[in-house]
Parts: sequence; C-alpha cells; structure tokens
Amino acid sequence: MLTRRAQDPIDENFVRARLLAALDRRRKLIDLSRITIVRLLNSEADFVPGLVVDKYGDYLVLQSLAAGAEKFIDTALDFYEKETGCRGILIKNDAQVRKLEGLEMYSQWRGESASGPLRILSDGVHYIVDLAGGQKTGFFADQRKAYGLLEGRVNGGALLDCFSYSGAFSMNAFKYGAKSSVIVDVSKEAVELARETARLNGVYDRCEFVCANAFDYLKYESSKYKAASGNEPPFDFVVLDPPTFTKSKSHVGEALRGYKEIALRAARLVKNGGFILTCSCSFHITMTDFYDSQCAAFSDAGAVGYLAGAGFQDERDHPVISSMPESLYLKYFIFQMSK
Ligand code: SAH
Repeated sequence: MLTRRAQDPIDENFVRARLLAALDRRRKLIDLSRITIVRLLNSEADFVPGLVVDKYGDYLVLQSLAAGAEKFIDTALDFYEKETGCRGILIKNDAQVRKLEGLEMYSQWRGESASGPLRILSDGVHYIVDLAGGQKTGFFADQRKAYGLLEGRVNGGALLDCFSYSGAFSMNAFKYGAKSSVIVDVSKEAVELARETARLNGVYDRCEFVCANAFDYLKYESSKYKAASGNEPPFDFVVLDPPTFTKSKSHVGEALRGYKEIALRAARLVKNGGFILTCSCSFHITMTDFYDSQCAAFSDAGAVGYLAGAGFQDERDHPVISSMPESLYLKYFIFQMSK
C-alpha cells in the first residue's frame, strides 16, 4: 500500500517525495560524516514498500524485493545519484523473495563499480563490506545501538561473539577495550570476512576464528563448565545474535526453544559478573516471550541474570512506525550474570 488517498497520483514526484523524506530523516538524526554505513531507505517503514537502499561510504546498494517496487528503481537511482553524489550504486536484485513474483534475478552496477570488498571506517571501526558477495546488502546496519552496549562492559575482557558475520560486535568490543574475542559463524565466507576485518583493525592476533554451527560450539564448550565442574568459565561477555529462527507464527515454539538453548549454554560459559547480550530479530517472537525464554534458560543453568539494558534496532535508519507492527523486529537484552 502506497497511500490512503485515492486521488494521489503515483508518479515520479510521489516516489521522489518519499525518498527525500526518508533521506531528510537520516540527515537530521544521524551524523553521516561519522556514521558512514546507513540504511537510507527501509521499505514499508519508509513508505516505499519493497525497496531498500543502503549506503556504504561512497557506494550504495539498492534492492528491490517486490514487483511493485520494480517501477520505482529508475527514479530511485536518479534520486540517489543526485542527492548523495555517490560513486556507484549496486542494483542487487538477486534476493530469493523475488522469485515469488516471478521477478528476474540480476545484479548490475550503475556509475562506477567497486572493484572488490570495500574498506569502510564508520564510527571509529574499520569494516570490510562485500557488497556483491556478502549476506543481504553486505552488512547488518541495524545493530548499531547494541554495539554501544559493549561500552564500559568489556574493558580488558574476553568476548565470545556467536553468529558473528564479519565480526562487528568483536570490532566494537576491541574499540571499547576488550582483550580478546572468539568469533563463531557457520558461514566460511563470514569467517573469512571477519579475519580480514580483524586484520584491518589490527586485532587479528587477539581473535580466534571458529567456523562452526554455534549450537554445536556452545553445546560442546559449555559442557566443560557445568556448575558442578568447578572450572572457571572463560568469557566476560557473550554475544548471541542469531539469524531469525522463524519467519512464521507456526514455528514460534521451536524458535523460543532455540533462543533458550543458546542462552543456557552462554550462561555456563560466562564468568560470574560477566554479561550476556542476547538478540532476536524474529518479528513473530514478542519481547516478553523472548525475555521469558532467556530467564528460563538462566534458571536451568543455575544462574541469575540481572537485567542491565534492553533495546531495539537502530530506529534512526530502521524506522519503527506505529501503523506497522512488523517494523519493530529486532530486540535485545543485556544481562549481568550472577552464578
Ligand atoms: N552479529 C552480526 C550479524 C549476524 S547475522 C553483526 O553484528 O554484523 C547472523 C549470522 O549468523 C550470519 O552471519 C550467519 O552466517 C550466521 N549463522 C546462521 N546460522 C548459524 C549457526 N547455526 N551457527 C553459527 N552461525 C550461524
């Protein structure tokens, strides 16, 4: 749905006004010279259903995810070229969801193409972003606020970064004084990106890279630190940032069991007084159910979690709007653990 007013002409001006409103919001809310990885347009939440535009320094990535959005692509390309002065825009129209409406799968550059993964400095951290080969448009820009929760809580500590992708939580942890990080992701490409990213930030030697299913890793590692074992757990801070465990209502129960399982293992692996930052990006999992699942996990682990903070996606560029419950999808809690 584009508008509630039937008389609105759906033309270039209509689309341009929406794009400009979205861009202006970001310009007002975000210091774009310091934060250089930004979602400029987030589909329905910016009133342009199906169209996503991310900015990575001087390059943009545009994704059209629905047949309706196809018609706006050219207008959007012209608009962003002019408004942002970017060097090039990758039209990354290869998401699986396009197949539902029989849309063609393709990737194509407009303007100058980036010759490989980009190196981008955003908010004091260096990132390597593979626009063409990476997951989604190359990065998960929605966790910016959660990175901030590491500040003052990881100093001198050992981090476990589960579901790491390119290691953004770890790199932010190092920025806030962490000593070391174990980086775990099931994707070989993600772990490779994390290695390169760690090198770029000068912290390679302080990282251990594990390409594994985090469920298996957590199960195996945590078995060494059951309460009765007497072994001192290794981590001061554990991050759990899994992909969505359910895209439908019917799998909520299973998903909650998944969230509980990894939190239980994390509770065994974290030191007394350490932190667990636990995230869910599944829209169908409510904040309360997610919270309850984590509390149940800690109880099973014989631990108590003191709630130390909670939050959502960075709403400055991943807007949350009252008319669309699905726009609020990412939530997280940080607990300080007492064992
Ligand atoms: N924390 C990241 C984003 C994570 S996205 C950041 O801040 O940028 C989720 C990641 O989980 C993806 O990189 C995906 O490859 C990984 N993943 C999916 N299933 C997994 C599993 N079972 N075990 C470990 N990693 C998994």
